This record gives sequence, structure tokens and C-alpha cells, in this order.
Amino acid sequence: MAGEFSRRTEMLLSRAEAICEHRGATLTELRRQILGMILDAAAPTGAYELLDRLRQTRRGAAPPTVYRTLDFLLEQGLIHRVERLSAFVGCVAGCTADPDAESHPHAAQFLICRNCGRVVEMQDHDVAAVLARVAKDAGFTIGNATVEAEGLCSTCRSAAPPTRARRH
Ligand SMILES: [Zn+2]
Ligand SMILES: [Zn+2]
Repeated sequence: MAGEFSRRTEMLLSRAEAICEHRGATLTELRRQILGMILDAAAPTGAYELLDRLRQTRRGAAPPTVYRTLDFLLEQGLIHRVERLSAFVGCVAGCTADPDAESHPHAAQFLICRNCGRVVEMQDHDVAAVLARVAKDAGFTIGNATVEAEGLCSTCRSAAPPTRARRH
């Protein structure tokens, strides 16, 4: 279904399709549809929300279908799972990656706004390096490090003036 998603999402989907093809994997219609829903959403999307939306066009869709699809997208580094929210966000870097690069998920940090639910992905190599160094000092080798920080985004911060300073 062309035109189902925003132009930006359609562009990312085309790139993701090419990346998968290059790796010998296939971004099937189902995988494409779920990736598109995740990329198009303003906030992270949970598996059951995806299932609900999927059922609008695929009545027989069951949870394992969604979970298998999400596993594929995670493996390909096209999405991330935000543990704190049990929800998924699209990875623009993963969707536009060099097709020759390996598909393992990269180190990412997430800033999660507790007010509007928006999540911003950062890829700060310094954060990853500091974490790796501190872990090494503790004799620990990091396999996968995702940092999640919760707070208020700039929009919500400016919308809510600090009331704490006010006294009665
Ligand atoms: Zn990412
Ligand atoms: Zn916010």
C-alpha cells in the first residue's frame, strides 16, 4: 500500500529494504508494514498496539507474528527496544546504514520524556567509551549497553514553568 506512511518513513523503508536485500534477508510486506508503523509513530510503540493496528488490515494476525517480526527488525538493527517502556522505536541510523556493515545493534542512549513520552535516540561514542572503561575496571566485558535516561524534554520543560520556587 503506497502512500500509507509519511514521505520520510517511505524513504527510510526503501533504504531498509535495500539493506536487507544486500544482506540476503527479505523485508517482507509484513515486516515492512510493522517497521513503517514504528517509524511513523511519534512515540515508542508497544507490541500489542502494533498488533491492534495490524489487525485492521490482517484480521488473523496473532502475537507470535508480531514478536517474530520484531525479532527480525531488532536483529537487523532497524529498530530498538526501549526497556523502560516495553516499546519499540525505529533506528534511523540502522535504516540508513551502510549495507556492507554488520547488522549487530549499535550502542545507543535514549532520552525519555516522562511527560509527552517522546524518545530521542543518541549515539554518543564518549558515553559508550566511558561505560566500557568503567566496566573494564570492574573486570566486566560489556556485550550490549543501552542507556535509558528519564526526564523532561525541552518542549515540556518550557511548557511547564518551574513552580517549585514559588512559596505560599
Ligand atoms: Zn539506533
Ligand atoms: Zn516531553
